[in-house]
Amino acid sequence: MEKIRKVVAQWALTNALEHGGRASVNAVLGKLMAGMPELRPRARELFGLVEEVVVEVNELPHEEQLYRLRKVGPVEKPKPDKHRGLPELPDVEKYPSIVTRFAPNPNGPMHIGHVRAALLSHEYARRYHGKFILRFEDTNPENALPEMYALIKQDLRWLGLGWDEEHVQSDRIELYYSYAEKLLRQENAYVCTCEVEEFRKLRDRGEPCPCRDLSGGEQLERWRRMLAGGFAKGKSVVRIKTDLKHPNPAVRDWPAFRVSVTPHPRVGSRYLVWPLYNFSVSIDDHEMGVTHVIRGKEHVVNEQRQHALFEHMGWRYPTAVHYGRLRIGGMALSKTQTMRGIRSGELTGPDDVRLGTIAALRRRGFLPEAVRQVILDIGPTPVDSSLSWETLCAHNRRFVDGRANRYFFVPSPVKLLVHKTPELKQARIRLHPSDLGRGERILPISREGDALAFHISQADATNLSVGQTFRLKDLMNVTLSSRGAPLEAEFHGLKLADVPKIQWVSAGAVRMEVLMPDNTLELGLAEPAVAGLGVGEIVQLERYGFVRIDATRPKLVAVYGHR
Ligand code: GLU
Repeated sequence: MEKIRKVVAQWALTNALEHGGRASVNAVLGKLMAGMPELRPRARELFGLVEEVVVEVNELPHEEQLYRLRKVGPVEKPKPDKHRGLPELPDVEKYPSIVTRFAPNPNGPMHIGHVRAALLSHEYARRYHGKFILRFEDTNPENALPEMYALIKQDLRWLGLGWDEEHVQSDRIELYYSYAEKLLRQENAYVCTCEVEEFRKLRDRGEPCPCRDLSGGEQLERWRRMLAGGFAKGKSVVRIKTDLKHPNPAVRDWPAFRVSVTPHPRVGSRYLVWPLYNFSVSIDDHEMGVTHVIRGKEHVVNEQRQHALFEHMGWRYPTAVHYGRLRIGGMALSKTQTMRGIRSGELTGPDDVRLGTIAALRRRGFLPEAVRQVILDIGPTPVDSSLSWETLCAHNRRFVDGRANRYFFVPSPVKLLVHKTPELKQARIRLHPSDLGRGERILPISREGDALAFHISQADATNLSVGQTFRLKDLMNVTLSSRGAPLEAEFHGLKLADVPKIQWVSAGAVRMEVLMPDNTLELGLAEPAVAGLGVGEIVQLERYGFVRIDATRPKLVAVYGHR
């Protein structure tokens, strides 16, 4: 009701300011119903409220109307529901069919920023009836994490992004080796044993290092030595020859293989020599027939590096779509920090509610549709964009509001006795305010002596003063008569009135813990029906927020999503 009141005030103030200071009840009611069609069945009941607000607003001087509108903020116009389609991909006509890929590094949980590459690649593959490939880029034995392969797949499935083919780079090492040999033999690559500093100095001047000009035969010999462990870690790399005068020194003769003795979580110590990103990605994009590479613009320089390899091989480089950066406010996203936090025990896991990971969003009751929609709205635009936590919550609210059943939950409960009531044994309240078909929940009411006994939240209790009338939501109006413990009140009628409405529990209430976004627990009492919910159900705790049931045993625990 508070929400409705706020919207009524917004429309009344807007309407008044547009019409010389005087709002019209009918106009405001019309706007209200248009914006919140779920209220239509309650139009008669809301008429009184609208009238009251309009009268109040019309009495205010112009300045005050302006001031209040600024305070409550303008009405959120519902976004037109037109499908904001993605732009066409470039070069589609150049390929017989479209192949895209999502190539995550399994070194940490996927977060909302990673969804963009996955979602766009998937959407375009589907739009053009092409193929979408999932490829794990795990050629860094130091940071590939065994549990991430499955988690990333779970996240993709949850997002509705099914893939047609799956590859893991650590299964393809021999293939990369065979290309390395070919390139070394052709003298398009070389095994470089220079000190890195020494190499850089030469490179920055555009000059070759002594290793570069050795013959193909000598390169292969060095390569075999490298494979056999003849060079210590850091003492040899394979480099791909590029134009030594390339304007960006970082592109010149980039490294393609290095030695690592760290056992790999999938293939153990089978390999000592590991391909680096630019090499394996190029081989795979070609071998897998990828036509469109969709990724962030931080890879633009990598594209320049990869071009050299494609040229040596005589291959055509796929069409690259590099989208702009996405700044995401209010979410902890760095994979390194996340993994450090998990290892030290500071974070509870990839789904720690403080994280912006897909696992955390799922646990908090965000719907995949909402996540997809915010990212699709941003699309592949090359300009930088930003996404706020509020936008994500607003999208999710749109999707979840119609689905979530309503229940009462009273955090930090305090007791309230209500005297002089009619005989009331239970309340029957709709599971969803606008979907009658879902039926009702029953809240039994307990009696203590001559009074009915309830619990309301500490926060609501604090705001009440003696003599104030308020409504135990969907039940009755009462007037506070004592602020002692317990609080006491007297019955003040059953009919809906324009007074504050407070959720409550009574007989059979169940203890519940709510895990809040800052990882603290809020304790309270939920109405009995909540005990019958299953893990994974997303509900709205009225006047509190949307939550997802996280556990029912040994304790009932919900995870907080948003208001
Ligand atoms: N594994 C790379 C990454 O996650 C893929 C980049 C690319 O799409 O080429 O950054």
